[in-house]
Amino acid sequence: NRVTSQSATEPLMRVEGLSKRYNLADDLAVDQVSFELQSGEILALLGPSGCGKTTTLRMLAGFEHPNAGRIYLHNQDVTELPPQKRNIGIVFQDYALFPHMTLLRNVTFAMRHVPKEELTAKAMEWLKLVGLTDYAKRYPHELSGGQQQRVALARTLAAEPELVLLDEPFSNLDAALRETTRKEMRELFKKAGTSVILVTHDQAEAMTFADKVGVMQQGKLIQLDTPQEVYQNPATAFVAKFLGHTNLLHGQACGNLAHTPLGTINLNNTFEGEVHLSLRPENLTLTACNNPKAAKVIDRQFRGHDYLYVLEQDGLQYCAITPSHNYFELDSHVAIQSARCASILPD
Ligand code: ATP
Repeated sequence: NRVTSQSATEPLMRVEGLSKRYNLADDLAVDQVSFELQSGEILALLGPSGCGKTTTLRMLAGFEHPNAGRIYLHNQDVTELPPQKRNIGIVFQDYALFPHMTLLRNVTFAMRHVPKEELTAKAMEWLKLVGLTDYAKRYPHELSGGQQQRVALARTLAAEPELVLLDEPFSNLDAALRETTRKEMRELFKKAGTSVILVTHDQAEAMTFADKVGVMQQGKLIQLDTPQEVYQNPATAFVAKFLGHTNLLHGQACGNLAHTPLGTINLNNTFEGEVHLSLRPENLTLTACNNPKAAKVIDRQFRGHDYLYVLEQDGLQYCAITPSHNYFELDSHVAIQSARCASILPD
C-alpha cells in the first residue's frame, strides 16, 4: 500500500548541494552534500563524531533549515515544507515515548489514517513485528532500553511513512541484541518496501544493514557506494581507514602491477607512475620462514575466527588477518604475499 506512482528510475529522494552552517564563525557542519535514494533502498551515512550525519538527517526531516541546497521527494521540492508535511518517519537516539501511555496507545497514537475500529488490531500487528505483543499493556518505564527502542520503531512504522530516518537506532542495545535487532529490522524494512536512511559511526553496522554506504568527513559526503565497493575500493585513505584495518602503501605502478616495499602487487586498475595504495589485511597471506630479513610478527590479536597480526619489515608496519588455524609465534619471521588486488587511492 505504498505510493507506487513513480517510475523505477525516479529516485524517492534527491538531495542537491545541501549545506549547513550553525554559526557564522563555525566551519560548515554539512558541506555540499548530494545524493539520490531509490525507493526501498537502505542507505547508511557513516562517519566519525561531528562529521555532520545528524545535521544532514535533521535537514532531511525538516527540523533544521539548510543554508543552501534543495531536497526533493518524488521530484517535488520539499525544502521549505515543515516536518509533518514530508511523510518521513524519524527515530532519534532518545526515541521519546509518551510515558503516560501504554505501548499499544503509543503505537495507535501514530495511526491517524486508520479507521477507529481497526486501530487496536493494526497496532498489535506492528507490535508483533518488533516482538512485543506480550508487552502491549505495559508503560515505557516498565521496559528495557532496547525494548523501548523497538516500540519507538513500531510507532514510526505504524504511521506508514515511505521513508524512515534512523539516528543511531541500535546504540542502546547490547552486542548480541544489536546484531539480531539489526537483522530483523532490515528484513522488516525490506518486507514493507520502506526506504531508510540510517546514521551511524559503526562501520560494521553500516555494512551489514545498508544497501549503500555514504562515508562522511568534515561535513562532506566523500563516497557513496555499495558496502563491498566502499570496502574494497575506498575513494580516499580516510575512507579506507574508517572502514577497517588497512595497509596504506606507496609504490611505482606500471600497467596493472605496482612495485611496493611488499614486492610486486596486482592493482585493481591500470596506472603509470607513483601510486598510493590500500591493501586490506585479509588480502595478505603469511607463510612461516627462517629468513631474518623477512617480516617479524610484533603483535597478535586473537579474534575468534581469525588472528590480526602486526608485522614489521624494513622499518615499516603492516597488518594481516589470517584464519585462526594459521598461527604464527610472536617474534617469528613470515613471508608476506599479496593474494588479491590493492586499490589505488588518489594523491
Ligand atoms: P555524532 O556522531 O557525534 O552525533 P554527527 O556526525 O551526527 O556527530 P553533527 O551532530 O551533525 O555530527 O554535528 C556536526 C557539526 O555541527 C559539529 O561540529 C557540531 O559541533 C556542530 N553542531 C551540531 N549541532 C549544532 C547546533 N545546534 N549548534 C551549533 N553547532 C552544532
